[in-house]
Amino acid sequence: MYASRGDRGLSKNRLRPARGDRASPARHQSPAAATAGRASDAAGLHDMSIAGLAKFRATVRKYWPRARPLALILLYHRVAEPATDPQLLSVAQERFARQMACLARRYEVVSLQELVRRIGRKAAAGPRLAAVTFDDGYADNLSNAKSILESCKVPATVFVSTGFLENRSECWWDELEDLLLYPSSLPGCLQLEIGGRRFEWTLGDEATYRDHDFASHKNWTVLRPDDPTNRHRVYRELCRLLRPLEEGARQRSLHALRAWAGGQRDRPCFHHMLSADGIRRLAAGPYVEVGAHTQSHPVLARLPVADQREEIGSSKKCLEGILGRSVTSFAYPYGTKSDYTDYTTALVKEEGFALACSNYPQAVAAGADVYQLPRFVVRNWDEERFMRVLESWWNGMREGDCDQ
Ligand SMILES: [Zn+2]
Repeated sequence: MYASRGDRGLSKNRLRPARGDRASPARHQSPAAATAGRASDAAGLHDMSIAGLAKFRATVRKYWPRARPLALILLYHRVAEPATDPQLLSVAQERFARQMACLARRYEVVSLQELVRRIGRKAAAGPRLAAVTFDDGYADNLSNAKSILESCKVPATVFVSTGFLENRSECWWDELEDLLLYPSSLPGCLQLEIGGRRFEWTLGDEATYRDHDFASHKNWTVLRPDDPTNRHRVYRELCRLLRPLEEGARQRSLHALRAWAGGQRDRPCFHHMLSADGIRRLAAGPYVEVGAHTQSHPVLARLPVADQREEIGSSKKCLEGILGRSVTSFAYPYGTKSDYTDYTTALVKEEGFALACSNYPQAVAAGADVYQLPRFVVRNWDEERFMRVLESWWNGMREGDCDQ
């Protein structure tokens, strides 16, 4: 899912495995903004003046043209039209169909496994390659996306967090949305202990949130700089605070939050995750591969190595038990470079995966590290916009990062 604004965590020391080895907790950021990585830091260019930097970049472009990319890997979460989508995770079914048709016309769309084979080959001019992935394991990947993938003959990999299917639970970010952003009457004051610290928020007039309030703000997303109500402010802050927690601490906070909200739910759940049977049906046929995405969707970089191994290995075993076949593709939860470490990539290799996907916006180049494959998050764009964004991604630009 959902990741952080700015893939700026190019850590200088990524070898410390212990809990809390990050200088600061992962900040809550929108999934869209996760596509806003800034690779220039790696070259120390930020030490130069702005004018000097621009001149330097122009010179580099003139005399050192960018290597031709090999492929784009697209990252989706949901194919659905929920009543509200604060994390920008959904693409409408009709738009997804047009996006896939467009992609299949202009690119050779291959499976991730095939893409990895091509990465290992000698560079040669060939068709533009693309691969399609989904993260988390939403049920609409089966009900709304699979038939489109089949009709467009587009292979895809769906990365499933197995904890959701074992517990039949929603993702925590969806539960926060349910509790705070839908019409309901809540207590006016929320006191919550999160990660050993006590927090208090006041909802004021928005303790009671009616249908017309919901209608007024249903298009709000976390990319907006403003929080139109206290509920949106609390939602944003809880996303930031819950994201870096280990699963036990997060569940304790969610449990307290549910109790505070009175456990009421008077509307259908819009965030169904795949069941074991759904995973089998999704993987049936030649187009969809199922990959692992850990058990509880943690920030792996914040876990001790033994816990990381358990998260990675248990999701693989669980899916292999369901599917009766080997599972060899993996995606890091959240997936920015600050969400996993060099130990994590080594563990993924040791656990028998052939490739792993990250979540930072870059085209795949020949010789790329197949355990940190970059991906671009796709939004609910119409066909024209989708084509334009693909072209900009292919050309090394970042259109799509600052458009929402
Ligand atoms: Zn995810």
